[in-house]
Amino acid sequence: MDFESRLNDALADMGLTLDEAGDAQIFCALLRATRDLELEMRPATGERKLYYFSAEFLVGRLLRSNLMNLGLLDEVEGILAAHGTTLARVEDCEPEPSLGNGGLGRLAACFLDSIASLGLAGDGVGLNYHYGLFRQDLADGVQREEPNPWIEPESWLIDTGRSFSVPFGFGDLEARMFDIEVPGYKNDTVNRLHLFDVPEPAAAPEHGIGFDKGDVAHSLTSFLYPDDSDEAGRLLRVYQQYFMVSAGAQLILAELEERGFAPEELDAHVAVHINDTHPSMVIPELVRLLMERGVSFEDAAGIVERTCAYTNHTILAEALETWPMRFIEQVAPGIAPIIRRLDALARERGGGDAVAVVDGGDVVHMANMDVHFSHAVNGVAALHTQILVTSEMRPFAELYPGKFTNKTNGITFRRWLMGCNRPLADHITSAIGDAWERDASRLEDLLPFAGDASFARGLLDIKRDAKRELAEWLRASQGVEVDPDSVFDIQVKRMHQYKRQQMNALYAIWKYLQIKRGNVPNRPVTMIFGAKAAPAYTLAKDTIALLLALSRLIADDGQVSPWLRLVFVENYNVTAAEHLIPAADVSEQISLASKEASGTSNMKFMANGAVTLGTLDGANVEIANLVGEGNIYLFGRSSEDVIGLYDRGDYRPWDVWLSDGELAEALDFIVSPELLARGDAGCLTRVYRDFLAKDYFMALLDARDYASVKERCLADYEDRDAWAGKMLVNVARSGFFSSDRTIREYDRDIWHLA
Ligand SMILES: *Cc1c(COP(=O)(O)O)cnc(C)c1O
Repeated sequence: MDFESRLNDALADMGLTLDEAGDAQIFCALLRATRDLELEMRPATGERKLYYFSAEFLVGRLLRSNLMNLGLLDEVEGILAAHGTTLARVEDCEPEPSLGNGGLGRLAACFLDSIASLGLAGDGVGLNYHYGLFRQDLADGVQREEPNPWIEPESWLIDTGRSFSVPFGFGDLEARMFDIEVPGYKNDTVNRLHLFDVPEPAAAPEHGIGFDKGDVAHSLTSFLYPDDSDEAGRLLRVYQQYFMVSAGAQLILAELEERGFAPEELDAHVAVHINDTHPSMVIPELVRLLMERGVSFEDAAGIVERTCAYTNHTILAEALETWPMRFIEQVAPGIAPIIRRLDALARERGGGDAVAVVDGGDVVHMANMDVHFSHAVNGVAALHTQILVTSEMRPFAELYPGKFTNKTNGITFRRWLMGCNRPLADHITSAIGDAWERDASRLEDLLPFAGDASFARGLLDIKRDAKRELAEWLRASQGVEVDPDSVFDIQVKRMHQYKRQQMNALYAIWKYLQIKRGNVPNRPVTMIFGAKAAPAYTLAKDTIALLLALSRLIADDGQVSPWLRLVFVENYNVTAAEHLIPAADVSEQISLASKEASGTSNMKFMANGAVTLGTLDGANVEIANLVGEGNIYLFGRSSEDVIGLYDRGDYRPWDVWLSDGELAEALDFIVSPELLARGDAGCLTRVYRDFLAKDYFMALLDARDYASVKERCLADYEDRDAWAGKMLVNVARSGFFSSDRTIREYDRDIWHLA
């Protein structure tokens, strides 16, 4: 059946024709038609099947990307145009699934897209959070969190009718399996994202995101990362994790049996990937289930080790999870003794307490368990892997020299270029043909166009149109006006001290003061931020309050506002990113060197022709190597310097304040009467005090260098031809960061699926 007939049938079921239907109804009908078509398609098959376990899958809206992968985008655009609407309008009716926090969850989503697009057999395994990550409300000058419901009567979720019984300490809880289909790019493959849910999910809380964390059977799938500032919240996280991995592990063994294999053959036919430490309990759970099927503990541990692989995403200590053994005994008594036996086995292999699974205080170190009982461990960018091997995980790297590999992250160019920036994709194709759509490394074919004035003009025009569209979206969505002829300087990512939005805020103050003194820039600058802060992360929320106060101060100041604007985009998510990234001139990637494991927004910006202003951290290092010095703006201390400063403990922000009057003036302005009149005094004071007393992520150390390199970057922007050349090199060299490349490497070195 052709797609138009499917669409008309879906509308007929709703008692409508296309001409009668509004955009929301057309969205529903398109969703049904797409989903039903996908249900008729087959998943990829291979020698081994991958199960990618992740607490987060930040998939974003799915309609456009599914239609694109099914090869139906042009047809649907045509049908909608004939009926007076557009896909852009229709897709605005699609709620974004809030199943992830940020980069880690978005990476998992890009990976599923690439796995299916390469025709590899691999499904995702996660949880069906009903309110997901909170929706951010900034109305009062501070962040407030609200539930983010996304599951409507008609959604992408398919009830598989399949369920598993998870043996918690309090009794069994049924895990129902819902699927979201994941079509590959024009290859007739559909893989699946399996999301487990409780039978009777709780309703949304009346106000905010506070809810009964003790009511596990109902609230287990309510929110992503429940507040862990009390024991009930921490326990709920353990319940969530065990629920996900137990149901997933049971699914794996059921499918293995359906394929006609014995439990002992698990490692020959299955690859399990552990995305960060949240799914770590899949290791003891698989051992438990194999033992239930008659396999000895020693054999089961060996089979599981040959099956599992683990990705480390951060070296921030706070993110390396540990759980008291008593939590696991309470939540998942079936695996507690297995974890103790795994600890004993690991101790026999040597390495001592530094690499213990269960430490002397009876606390379980999830990452340690992952490294011992996975056959491969990887970091997510070259620098990050190097830091893991030489410092953070050095004892492990000495114990298992062959286990550690690097797999530099990637993004799917289907969503992040072809989907969100069609004019640029078309411009590229008109120059070099469309081979790059299947092999992003072919973007290098653009390099010979470096001297081509009409290609360069096209790049600049497309950027300007994207900036106009962003301006239009900002006006419609939050009522702010921005000037498309200004430089769009964008920092969007989670709000975190290590990402150093506070340093960018200091720049804004410095610039404000400069303009007040008459030092106006060549061209107005629009600084755009977007970020959510974790609900319990006070300093991150304070930094949002500072940025909002600055935004007001600048907008109120008739002397400054023609030259400088600061816009804080509310509720940053994938949909917002798709509007923002095509319109960026400058991509802010300013983390403290050694702290950002990889970053992926840096890659998205690069592919869309933004020029990076950043530190030599994470994948920025690889971007710099690819584009060369003249096409990136680098500043700040190196990761070696930073690691040395931490080791010696001799960084003193106070010294910077004493030695740099201009910087001190900008810093003191945070608690000036002007700013205090426009922002919460408690928030501003805390940010100020933290800068001077602690500044753990050394924003003051790099602030001076940052400001001067940023000034150079803004000055260079005025040579439009030279800037277009930088844009071209960035786009042309971005192909390395395709998640198709990343996934090919995982498959070649770790999964061996085909
Ligand atoms: C890509 C992406 C991220 C990751 O951004 P980083 O700058 O790499 O931390 C976070 N959130 C959303 C919505 C994204 O699309």
